[in-house]
Parts: sequence; C-alpha cells; structure tokens
Amino acid sequence: MPELPEMEAWRRALADPVSVFPIAKAGPAHIATLKTFDPPIATLAGRRFGGVERRGKRLLLPTDDGELVLVIHLMTSGRLKHLKAGEKAPKAPAFALEFEGGSKLVLTENARRKRAGVWLLSPEAAEAEVAHLGPDALGLGAERLGEILRRESRRLHPLLRDQRALAGIGRAWSNEILHQAKLSPYALSTDLDDAEVERLAAAIDEELARGLALRERGAGDERTYRIHDKLGQPCDIDGTPIARVDFEEHTIYYCPTCQTGGRVLKDRRLSRLLR
Ligand SMILES: [Zn+2]
Repeated sequence: MPELPEMEAWRRALADPVSVFPIAKAGPAHIATLKTFDPPIATLAGRRFGGVERRGKRLLLPTDDGELVLVIHLMTSGRLKHLKAGEKAPKAPAFALEFEGGSKLVLTENARRKRAGVWLLSPEAAEAEVAHLGPDALGLGAERLGEILRRESRRLHPLLRDQRALAGIGRAWSNEILHQAKLSPYALSTDLDDAEVERLAAAIDEELARGLALRERGAGDERTYRIHDKLGQPCDIDGTPIARVDFEEHTIYYCPTCQTGGRVLKDRRLSRLLR
C-alpha cells in the first residue's frame, strides 16, 4: 500500500525520466482508472512534463506548457513501473504513457476492483482535486500536530490516516509511527500531554524519513516495516509478540508492551455486536 514514503520515493525517481522526453502516446487507460474524459487523454501527446510534485499520497505531473496536470492516485493496490526503451511491458496495464525514445510509465493494479485513479485536469481543477488534503505529514512539527490533535477527540490510528487532517499516512505507516511513539492506537487525541505530542511529531518524521530512505534503496515491505503485517513476530524493542486487532474495516498491529501497558485491545466490531 503506497503511502508518503513510497510516493515520495517515486516522485524523486520519476522527476527526471518523465520530463526528459515529450509524450509520444497517452494510453491505453482502463475505463475504471481514467477518471476524466475532457480534455481527452490523447491531448497529452507531444507535450512534455515539467517534473513531478506530490500532495499526500498523490503524484501531480504538470505539463511544462502550464496547461494540463496529470494526477495519479494509486490507492491500495496500484503500482507504478518505469520501463526503459525495449523493456517488457505488462500485458494489460491500467494506464500507460509512452515517451519519445521508447521509455514508458505504466500503472498496474492487481485487484478485482480497480480503485487507483488517473485524472487529466487543468491546473485549477487539479488544485481543487487536492484542496481537501491537510498539511503534509512529513515535517509537520509538534505545534501544528498539537492543533490537529486538539481539534476534536479522536482515536489516534484513524486520525493519523485521515487525509483531511494530515496528508500522506495510511494503515501501514500509522502502525509504524504509533509503535515508534509508544502510543496506543486507541488513545484519544485530546488525552495526549505535551510530551506525548512531541513524541508523536518526532515519530511521524523519523518513521516517514526511515521509510523514504529504505524505499529509495528499493527495500521491500518485509525489510521496511517493523510492526505492520508482522503478527506474532517479536517487537524489535522488547521481544513481545506483535498483536493485531480489527478496527472498523481494517487491521491494526501493535506491541502490547510498548504501546498499551500490557493490555490487549478488543475487537471494536465484535464488542459492539455483543453489547
Ligand atoms: Zn514492544
């Protein structure tokens, strides 16, 4: 699941390759992936990108004539590939761009339900598309994080993943950050004292920077994550088996020793049914 570290690594890797050559051909695009039809995607042909920007988990590729912006959101299962000229391309990509000289940018999505999206927009419409996003999670700092936490009382795990509150963190990095900060995923945002807010702000920066450094070196999930998706494996701090709990529609991983004072978190959906 690509989040801020993964998308920022992509942004850095793609900035040069996608702006060297003009676009020779835009498409094909899966009908569920391409979210816009006006202007048609074919109008990209002959134009050149002026680099790659990132907003939260989205990539924005503006054309250097200032007229169009291609927005890419990979969601959970979308993946990007940059192929050199002559490299074998996937058979049925969700979206593809071919550059003059033969290199390609390809989006694949190995899921029955296509959720990744590509939008071709005017610069104004692209701004509107990302206007709901909160400030970037990387470099947020304790003061601004404190304001976000105090706005309303919310559990930390869903709050960190709320792109309107702060942008870039999803399920995996929310698990990693809360473990690093030694805070319970169920803790209420308004219950944190100043020291805990400082710790959480530091953990956000440390973990996202650690993830970015690893992803830039091509590290896979197993090496990158210390707690996410590692049920039963020992916590790297105290050796306690990592636990998991289902919360709403997804799973939270945590260390009972580091994060919840030894308490095992109850499945919220189950306890709601039994009440
Ligand atoms: Zn631990």
